[in-house]
Order: sequence, then structure tokens, then C-alpha cells
Amino acid sequence: MVTQRNTWQRERVRDALAGARGFVSAQSLHAALRDDNTGIGLATVYRALAGLAASGEADSLQSPEGEALYRACSMTGHHHHLICRSCGLTIEIEATAVEQWARETAARHGFRDAEHVVDIFGLCESCAAKQS
Ligand SMILES: [Zn+2]
Ligand SMILES: [Zn+2]
Ligand SMILES: [Zn+2]
Repeated sequence: MVTQRNTWQRERVRDALAGARGFVSAQSLHAALRDDNTGIGLATVYRALAGLAASGEADSLQSPEGEALYRACSMTGHHHHLICRSCGLTIEIEATAVEQWARETAARHGFRDAEHVVDIFGLCESCAAKQS
């Protein structure tokens, strides 16, 4: 259980995240909050996002560049994402085949309590159409 002393700051970060389109980094969220003159520091944004992710209120993932990205998630429970790397469009997906593969692979190697993170990055239909 994480204790939150700066609750209003966490609320502001949560609101900003809900208003963002697709996955955003702590830095871009911090820039948006700075424009609103909230006075919330980058370290606080990082902490708030980590807290939201830990409590399941936000999704977090690593971009292909290794940056941590966050999103207010519309789906509860375990799921995966299809993300447009150009416009940030995100589709929540279930991946039954991946669940089975992960379970079987972990079991074959004697692993218990296995978890996995699988997100697909690509170009959405409209971005692909714009590029061709
Ligand atoms: Zn999600
Ligand atoms: Zn797109
Ligand atoms: Zn899965």
C-alpha cells in the first residue's frame, strides 16, 4: 500500500492523463501540467504515474526507444495494446493465443507466477494511408 501525501497532485496528474490521447511520457504530461501553472514538479509526476500504474488506474509500457509511457486505461484486468507509433491511437486487445503460449512456455521451464508484457507497435490504417 502506497501512502499518498500529495493527493491533489495525484488527482491533477490523473486528470491530465485521462485527457491525453494515447500513451504519453511523464515528461510530456509534465509539460502539459506546467502550461496550466500547477507548479507540479517532474519528480512528482513520475511518482504519481508510478502510483497510478501500481494501483491499476493506469497502464504503463515501454516504448521501442525504452521510454516509460502511461495511459489512463479503459480496460481492467490483464490485456494487451496495439499502438500507432505515429498518432498514438491505442486499441485494447485480448490475446488468448499469447496467454496460452506464455503459460505453457513458463511451465515447460518450471517457472511459476509468470507475467508478461506484450504490446504491438505499428502504423494505424489512416497513418499508413497518409504515408503511401
Ligand atoms: Zn490498456
Ligand atoms: Zn496512426
Ligand atoms: Zn497477456
